[in-house]
Amino acid sequence: MKICRFQPLHIPIEQVRRRGEELPSDSVEPSWGVVAGENIREVSGSLTGEWKLSGRTWPLAEVQLVAPIEPGKIVCVGRNYREHAAELGNPVPTEPLIFLKPPSSVIGPGEPIVLPAISERVDHEGELAVVIGRQCAHLGEADDVRPFIFGYTCLNDVTARDLQRKDGQFARAKGFDTFCPMGPVIETELDLAGVSVETFVNGQRRQAGRTSQMIFPVDHLIRWVSRMMTLVPGDVIATGSPAGVGPLRAGDVVEVAVGGVGTLRNPVMAASL
Ligand code: ZN
Repeated sequence: MKICRFQPLHIPIEQVRRRGEELPSDSVEPSWGVVAGENIREVSGSLTGEWKLSGRTWPLAEVQLVAPIEPGKIVCVGRNYREHAAELGNPVPTEPLIFLKPPSSVIGPGEPIVLPAISERVDHEGELAVVIGRQCAHLGEADDVRPFIFGYTCLNDVTARDLQRKDGQFARAKGFDTFCPMGPVIETELDLAGVSVETFVNGQRRQAGRTSQMIFPVDHLIRWVSRMMTLVPGDVIATGSPAGVGPLRAGDVVEVAVGGVGTLRNPVMAASL
């Protein structure tokens, strides 16, 4: 099942409420829906809790999809593909290397990635992301993680590479507004054996990998992260980027394609300063 969040096309994206933002009087709350062919069947309730179909149907062509989830936290895994660790001159880690992106960095499909003026090198990192559906903490090696997974989506872990090197910490380099495109949908059923994870810039393939190449697979990552931080519904785990990261320039269109999920497409623009 493919889950999305959407708004009618006639409402401009600026009027859609984002997590924690103060509500202008003309803002709207996006709706949840289930994608069915060329239509969306609207859902009422919370998809990670109780929900039902509202009975209303929208043609996909008449809506704008927004980020499919507003995560409370975004836990990212660095260097989880051998060739990607090597291309940046890093050793293969012996345990997962994790960092956080702020929820304020999330944008949806079609929204522009804004290149900050203080960085000269902003890279794409196309990744498979896991969305948590049920609270979990302190999972053991024998625990089954599947009951805690809501689904899977595409995520672009946009990174100011020069600032990452300069800071030694990842918060600034990974944390700018618009640096976490997510979507277009959440696929609730995905067989993770060998799912393709690809990134295209202006139609040219830049990154290609398969989930089977991950150093630490998804179930290991969820158990491992759950031993540090309680995972709650809506939290997102980005599972790392395959080799081939490279720069984005104003005017580019970047696409992250995850087999069985879909393609997340975002234009790139310079900051208007
Ligand atoms: Zn990454």
